[in-house]
Amino acid sequence: MKRAYNFNAGPAALPEWVLQEAKEHWLNFNDTGMSLMELSHRSADYEAVHNEAKELLTSLLSIPDNYEILFLQGGASLQFTMIPMNLLPKNQTAYYALTGIWSEKALKEASKLGNTAISISSKNENYSYIPNSEQIEVPKDAAYLHITSNNTIYGTQWSSYPTNVSVPLIADMSSDILSTPIDVSKFGLIYAGAQKNLGPSGVTVVIIRKDLIKEDAALPTMLSFHTHAKNNSLFNTPPTLAIYLLSLVLKWVKKQGGVEGIAAINNEKAKHLYDVIDQSNGFYRGHAEETSRSKMNVTFTLQSENLTKAFLQEAKEAGFVGLNGHRSVGGCRASIYNAVPLEHVMELTKFMKEFQRKNQ
Ligand code: PLP
Repeated sequence: MKRAYNFNAGPAALPEWVLQEAKEHWLNFNDTGMSLMELSHRSADYEAVHNEAKELLTSLLSIPDNYEILFLQGGASLQFTMIPMNLLPKNQTAYYALTGIWSEKALKEASKLGNTAISISSKNENYSYIPNSEQIEVPKDAAYLHITSNNTIYGTQWSSYPTNVSVPLIADMSSDILSTPIDVSKFGLIYAGAQKNLGPSGVTVVIIRKDLIKEDAALPTMLSFHTHAKNNSLFNTPPTLAIYLLSLVLKWVKKQGGVEGIAAINNEKAKHLYDVIDQSNGFYRGHAEETSRSKMNVTFTLQSENLTKAFLQEAKEAGFVGLNGHRSVGGCRASIYNAVPLEHVMELTKFMKEFQRKNQ
């Protein structure tokens, strides 16, 4: 069977190897006579999978010893709440860099729980750029600075992170984690819903510096990082299938040469698509400013709304899935996460060039 040209923004394409591997062990995991989904989360067979996922992530991102990895539920959206609940004391202020709708949502939830402020915003330009990270300053007594490393909807991505900030840097990396090397030690906390670069939906990965994990009896038990850290993310039943698939995705990343290997392919994929846009003489128009372009979500429109509609319709008929822009901004968006093969991107570039030839 031919795999679809899947450019969905999330849930998104998974590596075929991961799906084949899961299929092979579907009915009989590790000679247990049971599927992974049927194992107790307290069994040695499941715990080995759980811990292997943590070890693989640690090695792929070179996560230092003073960090804890948590596997949580509730999506990245629940982190918009859990982070201020755990890390924003009443007498401090949390700063948010606004670079898109997801950072707005994160700020909105934090504002319900404590004092917040906007450190910098690119809303005035319809979130088409990432502010200069060197210009971001927050008071030394702030609780933290929150950024969204890749703006899935607008197709912008931070290429360097704030350095003039002494408070913990917190990053929503839902749509670009594992796409390029990062220095985890520069962050207080990193979080990501799995359904773009890490696996299926259902598990959210949190990487948190241990000194930020505090016991607070006033917090609801399930919403406390301390609860999950103390129990190796096994306080209650974790999403075992999602974590198993995450472990397979991590093995696949390792086979691609790790994050460095993946980053090289991602650079190539993004370059091919942006080249088509840049060489189209304005037929395709990128939303993001060049220096802020995302290597994960390529957003563009055509010369008119009618042409954009025709493009999306023909692309759909030609077998390209998920090219519609987010409902809040319209236009087109090709999400080219880690698992989207280079060949599929090349097919899309061919289709775009041919559509331009026929319609200009
Ligand atoms: N943050 C970013 C950057 C996203 O792209 C998304 C979803 O697309 C979310 C947060 C919300 O994630 P979830 O649906 O896992 O709550």
